[in-house]
Amino acid sequence: MKNLTHVNTGLLGLIGHPIKQSYSPFIHNAAFEMKKMDYIYLPFDITKSNLKSAIKGMSILGIKGFNVTIPHKENILDLLDTISEEASIIGAVNTVVNDHGELNGYNTDVYGVTETLAPYKKDLAGSIISVVGAGGATRAVLYSLVRNYKPKEIFLINRNEQKAESLKKYFSEKVKFDAIHTKELFPPDLVEIFQGSKLIINATPLGMFPDMNDSITELSDSFRKGQIVFDLVYNPVNTKLLKLAKKNGAETVDGLSMLIYQAAKSFELWTGEEMPQEQVKNSIKYFIEN
Ligand code: NAP
Repeated sequence: MKNLTHVNTGLLGLIGHPIKQSYSPFIHNAAFEMKKMDYIYLPFDITKSNLKSAIKGMSILGIKGFNVTIPHKENILDLLDTISEEASIIGAVNTVVNDHGELNGYNTDVYGVTETLAPYKKDLAGSIISVVGAGGATRAVLYSLVRNYKPKEIFLINRNEQKAESLKKYFSEKVKFDAIHTKELFPPDLVEIFQGSKLIINATPLGMFPDMNDSITELSDSFRKGQIVFDLVYNPVNTKLLKLAKKNGAETVDGLSMLIYQAAKSFELWTGEEMPQEQVKNSIKYFIEN
């Protein structure tokens, strides 16, 4: 009966453009339903030119918080009242909390990466790590690795090596980590580097639906026993990269864990409650695979 009037319903949302592909409304609304919480999470398609007025509107309307996705993750920083340390260093916000009109920005992707890799903490200390990609997700990955996992060296590999080079410079200034080497994404030249890496991370969309036949490499010599391969792509859950890595003895980690961890952190920032992560993960997995 309570919901017939919605006078107390907490409104949360997502801003981005385009946003139709996002799983966040599914994840958060499923969690609210599971926990019988009186909240609703809605997607708002906001273009770049409307960002400033949309943010003002969010605040005035009393929207309790929202996620931020492409193309606003960087531009929104100037429109917020406070920004967490990691969001400020990375230069990207993916979660905003509206605290009685004060807009506070966070980056929960960092938490997503950190929690996903937590079971391998001992293995990663002093290790060599390869990260493929130099976009927004890579920034969260690098921050998490450097702050929490103390690697010896990181190979930063990208299609456009120049972009990897800029990111390397930015990181060595901001987090004082100098052991980053850049490489162009050319698989035959990377076999030895991948072989020598304890952890390989794909932070590009390669392998994502509908291009499921793509992979950062098709060369099986790149993988080995005792190695961890983490793919940020979560649709499909079992990517071509993960299948190949597993076939060659590596341990694999899919992008779904990170997706749920980052969502769970946002959920907690907005509501103060824990997300029922296992239950939500099972339903989103079923949703993706069917
Ligand atoms: P982004 O900022 O657009 O960066 C994309 C990166 O991928 C760039 O380095 C780009 O290289 C590279 N790339 C794109 N298409 C490529 C291709 N065809 N061949 C080789 N390299 C290519 O994207 P992002 O936000 O970092 O996201 C990257 C991926 O991570 C996406 O698939 C996203 O869905 C996933 N992600 C997952 C989670 C999770 O929770 N699991 C969270 C965030 C992101 P250039 O610089 O050469 O263009």
